[in-house]
Amino acid sequence: MPDAVHDAFQRPLASLRLSVTDRCNLRCRYCMPEDEYVWLPRASILTFEELDRVVRVFSTLGVRKVRLTGGEPLLRHDLPALVRMIARIPQIQDLALTTNGLLLAKQAAALRAAGLQRVTVSLDTLRPERMLAFAKSARHGDVLAGIRAARDAGFEHVKLNSVVIRGFNDDELGDLVEFGRAEGAELRFIEYMDVGGATHWSMDQVVSQRDVLEALTRRYGPIAPVAQTGGDARAPAERFRLPDGTTFGIIASVTAPFCRTCDRSRVTADGTWFLCLYAGRGVDLRAPLRGGASDDDRQRSSGRPGRAARIAGPKRASASPIAARSTGSTRCAPIPIGRCTRAEAECSTKSPSSALATSAPPPPSASPKKRSPGASSSWT
Ligand code: SAM
Repeated sequence: MPDAVHDAFQRPLASLRLSVTDRCNLRCRYCMPEDEYVWLPRASILTFEELDRVVRVFSTLGVRKVRLTGGEPLLRHDLPALVRMIARIPQIQDLALTTNGLLLAKQAAALRAAGLQRVTVSLDTLRPERMLAFAKSARHGDVLAGIRAARDAGFEHVKLNSVVIRGFNDDELGDLVEFGRAEGAELRFIEYMDVGGATHWSMDQVVSQRDVLEALTRRYGPIAPVAQTGGDARAPAERFRLPDGTTFGIIASVTAPFCRTCDRSRVTADGTWFLCLYAGRGVDLRAPLRGGASDDDRQRSSGRPGRAARIAGPKRASASPIAARSTGSTRCAPIPIGRCTRAEAECSTKSPSSALATSAPPPPSASPKKRSPGASSSWT
């Protein structure tokens, strides 16, 4: 087995985000706000066998952690079957899922039994009417039921992701912490990131890590940082402790990007590999997968990672954030990793990329049936 692959900054390629579908059953204003989208053709979505093979190849390159995401991963039929396949790969030490929770109550036990180790549920608000306004869904109760079902199914350390947006849920920080404590789940507050035009991101909507800490300090008193050790050292969240011992995390992708310790790469539902959430280009893995390439060939395709813009291969399909979604770029961002401007600039001058070049065509793009006013701005 080859040594774990490191990039030009000696960052190991240890963590893989695997998007299993581009579809979602929510329309969160900060993520996928349009009513209708044109989804990837079914035939272009990697099968479970292909996904399993991708993970096996990556596992020989040093990947130890896999997170299933989307879109909404629980929309993928029989996800426990995929979990079972990946859980059997000996090198994979950590298998996790990020979900909006709508379908979790029904599937939690089967996912657990299949070998899923960890679950993160997105929960931005405790108020159903806010979810209706913000994500166009009246199913807040299903999310709460999903969180409970995860705990009942035996998942320890369930995490709750909350994207904090000024004027939407920034008055709920303490309530979310309380809810997490009551449910035995740890909050991860995420700074609102710019993922494209239709979301109408602006800096003034971002509630920074400092703002979150100030608000929680006002409510609870002095907050202490938790030292990050072992696997945590590369986690995107910084963790903190309230005076009563309750811990929570903040993912400060906007005000304190963590590119330096980033060990994540992501494969979209249609098999394009991106080394950065903000990378403009990815590597098409589907063509070699379906073209009969051996695992060694696939290793060569993925085995000399530069980062971000340095990767030769399919360019993110268009300037449309929606088209970017169709390649899975937004959809496969379970843990947002921040605008990697340093990596884009520096990696492009320091890391070899020729080994990654493929002659593949750009991934198929989709566009919303209705284009948003911001749809022409670049997602990268
Ligand atoms: N559908 C699943 C879910 O909702 O958890 C998985 C995919 S979703 C893209 C993964 C995570 O990204 C969610 O926790 C979501 O809140 C977060 N996210 C999406 N758009 C974001 C944005 N603009 N800024 C920060 N986080 C975002």
